[in-house]
Amino acid sequence: MSVIDAGPAPDRHRHTRPRSAKIHLIDDGVGKYVFNVEKGSLHSLASTHRASLESAMEFGDIKRAELMASGLGLDIMQPINFKPPKTVPLKAISLAVAQKCNLGCSYCYAEQGSFGGNSEHMLPSVAKASIDRLINQSQAGEAVTLAFMGGEPLTNCKTLHASCEYAAQQAAKREVPIGFTMTTNATLIKPEDIALFQKYKFTLTVSIDGLKEENDALRPFLSGKGSFDRLSKNIKALLATENRVFRVLARVTVTPKNTNLPYIMPGLLAMGFDQIMFSPMLSSPSGRDQMQAEDLDKLLDQLILCGEAFYAALEKGKILPLANVTTMLARIHNYKREQYPCGAGGGYMGVSAKGELYACHRFVDDEAGHMGDISSGVDLDKQSSWLAQRNLQSQSPCTTCWARYLCSGSCHYETIKRGRPACDYIRGWAYHCLALYTRISRDHGWALKQLVAD
Ligand code: SF4
Ligand code: SF4
Repeated sequence: MSVIDAGPAPDRHRHTRPRSAKIHLIDDGVGKYVFNVEKGSLHSLASTHRASLESAMEFGDIKRAELMASGLGLDIMQPINFKPPKTVPLKAISLAVAQKCNLGCSYCYAEQGSFGGNSEHMLPSVAKASIDRLINQSQAGEAVTLAFMGGEPLTNCKTLHASCEYAAQQAAKREVPIGFTMTTNATLIKPEDIALFQKYKFTLTVSIDGLKEENDALRPFLSGKGSFDRLSKNIKALLATENRVFRVLARVTVTPKNTNLPYIMPGLLAMGFDQIMFSPMLSSPSGRDQMQAEDLDKLLDQLILCGEAFYAALEKGKILPLANVTTMLARIHNYKREQYPCGAGGGYMGVSAKGELYACHRFVDDEAGHMGDISSGVDLDKQSSWLAQRNLQSQSPCTTCWARYLCSGSCHYETIKRGRPACDYIRGWAYHCLALYTRISRDHGWALKQLVAD
């Protein structure tokens, strides 16, 4: 009996891998489109045009495919000739008020809060000096954001409460609108904290990695006991606040142990969160629970199922608060050729408990992201070289990727620490959302209006 070689397994990412840096073909199951990368526009294609474009792309005749697209009326623009700014004014800082945590999550970027060093609490004087630096350089009417991070910020309530009061006073004096945010594990919330969130209209991001089973496996207390019961009791108290004006968002860090998103999502929605966001763990200090290629493939499949649940809810007149979908749809609609994935190292910086400045909260105590200190200010040489090196146009292979303006090169921290292991996942999700966008524009215009207005 002869053995027939079945050949290589089909590449599941074939339709999302970059071929042209200028155009990409999108099929939403009903219509076929060509995505104009520099413009961010989607052009409906007759199936005959699609077939010839597809075959030109398939055979690697990219020039011909791009010429054909131009012939169909696509205005194919040249990429931006981006000149990185030397400096960017601060618009947001995060205070690591507690480099200490009461949980022991396996993958924690802050290594249980201490960032690999000794546990520390930020003194109110350091917080005040940071707030002064943020507010004194801003102009009246220009909004700023004060974020609290850790570790777990609620292990240092004294500095947290004092900082809010001081920042609100200083901002009011200078007529600077100020927003407050905090990322928390929500296990230490007390009634006076809820009053603080209500008074200053916080946006709280609660780290929760699933329902009881998944969350307890990934987010135990230092004693080893699961944190879900305490967390869910506190979420109930938060959400029961009378005339609540603060927002409570759920952030699920997805590891290989909690990829069952279509099960987790409705559970978190039933808990009453205002928004849910899934984010893969790509770089943990110990390497534990990082997502590998096969885990990211699984995550993409699961997230697509959630995207389909989002679409099914639209059919019933409901918009699910799934940030992975809503933020990407808004990004597609309000397409900007963003050169940075976030404000890190530019308009946003993290302050360590000791008052050192870092590109963002994840770089705290990491020389790779050091940016000066709160008493002498941002190190302008470091900032200017960061902005010159980290922009999209300087990133390889991003300049040739069709999804570059929907991704902007991905998180600096993860890229510096681990490279770019998630590009197929990022492009797969961008592709799904572009197709979702065309379907929603065609069939649920009412929803699109609401989604992009938010
Ligand atoms: S990081 Fe983003 S823009 Fe860069 S190649 Fe990967 S998916 Fe494309
Ligand atoms: S570098 Fe990464 S972790 Fe830091 S703010 Fe940007 S996206 Fe977030």
